[in-house]
Amino acid sequence: KKKIAVMTSGGDSQGMCAAVRAVVRAGIFYECDVFACFEGYSGLVKGGNLLRKLGWEDVRGWTSLGGTLIGTARCMEFKERSGRLSAAYNMVTNGIDALIVCGGDGSLTGADLFRSEWPSLLEELYEQQKLAKFQIEKYKTLKIVGLVGSIDNDMACTDATIGAYSSLERICEMVDYIDATAESHSRAFVVEVMGRHCGWLGLMAGIATGADAIFIPERPPEVGKWKDDLKTVCKRHREKGRRKTVVIVSEGAIDRELNAITSDAVKDVLVEMGLDTRTTILGHVQRGGTAVAFDRMLATLQGVDAVKAVLEMTPDTPSPMIGILESKIVRQPLVRAVELTKSVATAIANKDFDKAISLRDSTFLE
Ligand code: ADP
Repeated sequence: KKKIAVMTSGGDSQGMCAAVRAVVRAGIFYECDVFACFEGYSGLVKGGNLLRKLGWEDVRGWTSLGGTLIGTARCMEFKERSGRLSAAYNMVTNGIDALIVCGGDGSLTGADLFRSEWPSLLEELYEQQKLAKFQIEKYKTLKIVGLVGSIDNDMACTDATIGAYSSLERICEMVDYIDATAESHSRAFVVEVMGRHCGWLGLMAGIATGADAIFIPERPPEVGKWKDDLKTVCKRHREKGRRKTVVIVSEGAIDRELNAITSDAVKDVLVEMGLDTRTTILGHVQRGGTAVAFDRMLATLQGVDAVKAVLEMTPDTPSPMIGILESKIVRQPLVRAVELTKSVATAIANKDFDKAISLRDSTFLE
């Protein structure tokens, strides 16, 4: 029987449980044993009870849940070769040679590195007399498939990451709550949302709630000038009869010289305008709550495709990342997706914002 392991790694997101459920059940449907690797890469490195088989019933009711019930962790050991050696040992001794990782670009980078090192890891374990010759032959190829779990919607080569729409929904609900009090008191609110390198949550929340202004990393305004521009816009809206002011700031918002535009700095500008201003940093509520229908669907369809991808992979197939493009579930080369994602951050760091936007490979910023 083929044995597959599934893990969630990096920051948690709504829909990760649905992805695990889909992998477990599709795996069982295709007559595989599916192991959950608990606590991200730590489960592989430590093995034992952190790497165990899940049955059909174990994932019952997981479709709607937020967070991840198999745990996630930042695992420093896996960044070292010694950690990856022990991960390889635990996989082979459990008979597992396929791994489905649901995480962000860091987790998927780690997975790809693991695959590229696989033969040499096994040889080293053989030299240390921890594995036998037949095991090295039998498990000589490792199959890796990536699923993207991230609230930020920050991965290239896919239109949506698992969790992004749930997080966006949470933000919109919170801004709606704030709206009531803002309007009652005629107040201004600065709402800080997550997204260090990616402004998707901020931009989409701004559009969906009709914010007065939005600050995101990919479209930084001119140094200093943004303050006057912000005042002009908010004043115009007020003059048209709007009783509230809402400005959405991504946590990674910057100006064109890469100075941070913090929620405090935005607040100061609104206060200067004479507005009674409050700041709300949404924080971890953005990761909370149940998954919206879109994330349940995305995670389920992608989880099933991840299992199919494992079963169809040959040793020459580049590791796939399961994405969604124009409403179709697609397989993309994982390495390319991760490289493109990293190049957006690099373009921003080099102040090449046009390049960052074009690399985002999306029409939403144009
Ligand atoms: P995300 O997957 O959300 O981007 P991280 O970057 O924190 O989150 O990565 C999650 C985990 O993936 C890390 O704690 C580590 O175990 C593993 N990982 C990340 N980058 C690498 C890497 N370059 N090499 C090996 N493992 C990595």
